This record gives sequence, C-alpha cells and structure tokens, in this order.
Amino acid sequence: MGIHVAPRVLGIPVGDLDNVVYLVAGDRAVFIDAGYDVQADVDSLVRQWGDAGRPQVEAIVVTHRHPDHAGGARLLADATGGVVTAAAAEKPHIEEAFPGAVVGRTIEDRELMDLGGVMLEFVHTPGHTMGSVCVYYREERVLFTGDTVLGTGTTTINPEQGSVGAYVESLRMLLDFDLRLICPGHGAVIDEPQAKIREAIDRRLSRERDIVRLLSNGHHTSEQLFAALYAGIDPSLREVARRQIRSHLVKLESEGRVTIRGEEAKLETEAFPSQSASREAR
Ligand SMILES: [Zn+2]
Repeated sequence: MGIHVAPRVLGIPVGDLDNVVYLVAGDRAVFIDAGYDVQADVDSLVRQWGDAGRPQVEAIVVTHRHPDHAGGARLLADATGGVVTAAAAEKPHIEEAFPGAVVGRTIEDRELMDLGGVMLEFVHTPGHTMGSVCVYYREERVLFTGDTVLGTGTTTINPEQGSVGAYVESLRMLLDFDLRLICPGHGAVIDEPQAKIREAIDRRLSRERDIVRLLSNGHHTSEQLFAALYAGIDPSLREVARRQIRSHLVKLESEGRVTIRGEEAKLETEAFPSQSASREAR
C-alpha cells in the first residue's frame, strides 16, 4: 500500500499515528525512518522493498530517536542489511532506548549520499530533538522532515530532548531551501512547503507572545500558565502541554527575558525592555 509521492519516492504508511516511512530508490535505496518496533509493520516495509526489486539498502536513516521513527530500525536492518544511520547527537539515545539497535553510521550536516541516480543531502535540524535531521532530495526539490515539519498535528518539544529556540532557527534555515514538496513523518505530503514552514514558525512565536503576555499579567507559575493556555485540554495531552510551556520558558530564560525559580517564572521586562520589544515584533 505504498504511494508514489514523488519520482523514486515511495511513502509507506505504518502504525496508527499517520506514520509514514519513505523508501527512496536510485540504483541503491534508503529507508527514511523505520516506524515502530512492530514486526508486522516492518514486514510491510520489507514487502514494499521486495516489490521495488530489493535494491541494495544503503542506509536506514532515522530522523530522530522517537519510537515511531527509530523503533523498527533494528528489525528493518536485520531484514534488509541496511546500516542504521542518524545524527551523532541521536545515536546514544537510539541505542539506549532500543536494545540491539546499533547506529552504524553518523551523518554530518550537509553530508551527501549518492544512491546512483539519486543524490540525498542530510540537513541537521535540531529542535524537536537535538539530533533531528531532515533529508533533501535536491533534484526533485523534496524535503523529508521527520517530526520537524508535520502533515498532521503540531510538533511538540520536550525540554529534556529538544529546544524551542533551536527549532525556530532550524525552521528559518529551511526557508532557504528550494522546495516543491515536504514528505513529513506523519500525515500527507505537503505541497506548499514555504507556507507550512512559516506557519510552524508563526505558531511558536505566537505561543511565545501568549506566554509573555500572561507572565506580564501575573500568571507566574507553570500551573497558572497551563490553566490559561490549555483550558479544556484532553487529559491525555496534559503532560505534553506542560512540557511545551516549560520549553518556551527555557527559551525565554536563555534569552535573558525570564527568570525561572522552581515552578515560578518572572519576566525581566525592566532589565530588557528594548530587547523583548524587538523580538516580539518579528
Ligand atoms: Zn518525534
């Protein structure tokens, strides 16, 4: 049930979160992401590879450490002989979370991989996690984004694993790419890449403005911010929502705009009036 989303690119849905694994094939092939550590899902990836003529698998590129992307890497490597490949920052996390998984190759920012007729470029895009990567297929102007840009839902950032500041920087950097399509790790292909990237940047900055405004209105604790920003949220999403607030506060603190003490955050508006005004205006 793979879908040809671009020349030489097959999108293969797996799992239950609109996960998409991509098989990109020149003379040799790569998988981009591996889905969950679920044998039936990996079997379906291997079947699609079989239907494509079993090209030599050069790499199983894991865009980042999360289980819906990295979980199936070990099984997929065993079945296809591909080398699990990720950013160095992600390697220890992948190997720790998935026993038996070995990241056999780490990739530098802007490193190229020649598949014979298809040239891929790896682009480091820290933010969602610090070792998140995108893959650029320049000839077709296609960017594979993992969870950095999504077709469905909103990218979340756990402050233990990523950074809102780095995320926004990475998105701004991606605006410089000549893009026709984004192939996200979840959801359908995106055919207005620039608008989608801008939307993701704007969403982060607007959330940041909300938090700054609430802080200036006396909402100083995480719980006060949570109650104001996420009233009525699905209980299963509360922890994720709290982490988003935390990630934003950490960014503001790193910029000298906020001081965090335990559960309380305080604006540094008097110390940094001009700076916060200019940043908010962007
Ligand atoms: Zn993720």
